[in-house]
Amino acid sequence: MRIAMIGTGYVGLVSGVCFSDFGHEVICVDKNPAKIEMLERGEVPIYEPGLDALMVKNVEAGRLTFTTDLAKAVDGAEAVFIAVGTPTRRGDGHADLTYVMAAAEEIAQNLTGYAVIVTKSTVPVGTNRKVKQVMAKANPEADFDVASNPEFLREGAAIEDFMKPDRVVVGVQNERAADVMAEIYRPLFLREFPIVTTDLESAEMIKYAANAFLATKITFINEIARLCEKVGADIKQVSKGMGLDGRIGNKFLHAGPGYGGSCFPKDTMALARTGQDYAAPMQIVETVIKVNDEIKRRMIDKLQDLLGGSFNGKTIAVFGVTFKPNTDDMRDAPALTIVPALVGGGAKVRTVDPQGKREGEALLPGVQWEDDPYKAARGADAVVILTEWNEFRALDLKRLAKKMETPRMADLRNVYSLRDAKRAGFEAYVSVGRDELT
Ligand code: NAD
Repeated sequence: MRIAMIGTGYVGLVSGVCFSDFGHEVICVDKNPAKIEMLERGEVPIYEPGLDALMVKNVEAGRLTFTTDLAKAVDGAEAVFIAVGTPTRRGDGHADLTYVMAAAEEIAQNLTGYAVIVTKSTVPVGTNRKVKQVMAKANPEADFDVASNPEFLREGAAIEDFMKPDRVVVGVQNERAADVMAEIYRPLFLREFPIVTTDLESAEMIKYAANAFLATKITFINEIARLCEKVGADIKQVSKGMGLDGRIGNKFLHAGPGYGGSCFPKDTMALARTGQDYAAPMQIVETVIKVNDEIKRRMIDKLQDLLGGSFNGKTIAVFGVTFKPNTDDMRDAPALTIVPALVGGGAKVRTVDPQGKREGEALLPGVQWEDDPYKAARGADAVVILTEWNEFRALDLKRLAKKMETPRMADLRNVYSLRDAKRAGFEAYVSVGRDELT
């Protein structure tokens, strides 16, 4: 099967590499020449564990190539995947479909035979039908079907998720397209991973409903965490006790500084807008968005209390800036709300992150980057754990405390405990939803 993959971001590159590993012939396209040059040199423009080795293996096998020339990639392709960005449209919160529609138009103009045009980008209900219209208008002769194939991979575990998915969702309008999609995913089908075949609208909706549900679960536990702080309960014990219930499950029940990342904030917002458009308001999702914003702001208040009411003149070491561990992605990370508040309040901020510096340097002006947590903590008034990278999960807390001017910690991922902190000599320790010492 010959596949063209339009967009080589977190989703397009992982999908392209994995499809080539299935044995398909894949050409990945990006309009960013710097990305394609890197890929052609065998370098991966993003940080995703395991991706570089799998990419090199398939390039060497001759199944995977890269180009900026969309026409060349589409020529002879039996399936063309659209995996371009769908960020929040400025001003109104809708998903911005400019990149999707531009790609669709260009694909239509360059199709040379029948192909299935598969939207992998997360797009609101109705978009696949619009893609079809845009393509038919751009080239009335084009012979194609559209398919919706939303992606559920998680950054940081993307290859594992792609190769061993909980399910693959495929929305189609006819059997011809369904057959092409079945052929593409045959290796997963043979290994009995569930493939859910639906109409276009249901496939589009599944993606938003799933993301909104996960964002709700996180926000729910964050709100329970706040109440735990007031009543003297411990959110870790509460989460454990809840999560062991099979109907609830233990995933996405960890309290923290609010969800971020490249998907939940924009997808919850886009779903809320779709609900408004159809006069079927997503009231739960709208509340989740509001509460999540409040949670991030509440973290700033927590830090301010820890530092005696003001950031001014304080030195603060921030451990972790990416939106979660094992990725370099900074999109909508809680750090983008919290760190500027510290800097704006007059603090001297030092940041450490195993992969965040490349993106973070431009996004977090005024901070000093360090590569070692103990060095970052030297003479500091507080340490803040914002992302639970493994590097920050087994710190020598005694050593850390000794380096600091005043040993205080805000553990916003609940990695340690008040007991650990006290034993190590911390004079103040705050976390999320548990006992604190201030
Ligand atoms: P990204 O911003 O990392 O990558 C998009 C890429 O598309 C960029 O490299 C850009 O240069 C390229 N591009 C844009 N227009 C193009 C065109 N006309 N021709 C060729 N290349 C073009 O985005 P991403 O994180 O990979 O997300 C892509 C889509 O997948 C989004 O809709 C997102 O919501 C969805 N998604 C993302 C994740 C995730 O974890 N990142 C997970 C599931 C779904």
